[in-house]
This record gives sequence, C-alpha cells and structure tokens, in this order.
Amino acid sequence: MPTPDRDDTGEPTDGSTDHQPPDDQPTCPYCESTDVTLESAFGSEISKSQYYCRNCRTMFERLKYDGERPDTGR
Ligand SMILES: [Zn+2]
Repeated sequence: MPTPDRDDTGEPTDGSTDHQPPDDQPTCPYCESTDVTLESAFGSEISKSQYYCRNCRTMFERLKYDGERPDTGR
C-alpha cells in the first residue's frame, strides 16, 4: 500500500518543511558563550539580528531563521 505521507525520516518531500526553527539562545561565535543578549532585532539588514555577548563583550550579527514563511502563493 502506497503511503507517501509518512515523514519519519524528516525529509521534506512536498516542499513544506515541518522543522522547528532553532529559536533557542544563540551562541557567541567567538567564545561560544550563551550569555548573549539581543541588541537589535533589525541590524544593518532586515534578515540579520545584532547580538551582544556579555561574556567577551563583543557584538556580532546573526542571521534570523525564518522558519515560517507567509503562504501567499495560493
Ligand atoms: Zn563571546
């Protein structure tokens, strides 16, 4: 019996990713500390976020993970 609707492997077959976006605390790329704070939701670009590491006191940018896209196609 054909069951193409199974997603045990987590591989998107129909183009819709049902993955949960990694919305956890970002880590500092320099000291790998999780003691970072969101400085600005909109950095130089709209797809980036500025974070400030309180451990090494360094600001860094991080790409925002847009997990859910607005479905305006249909
Ligand atoms: Zn750091």
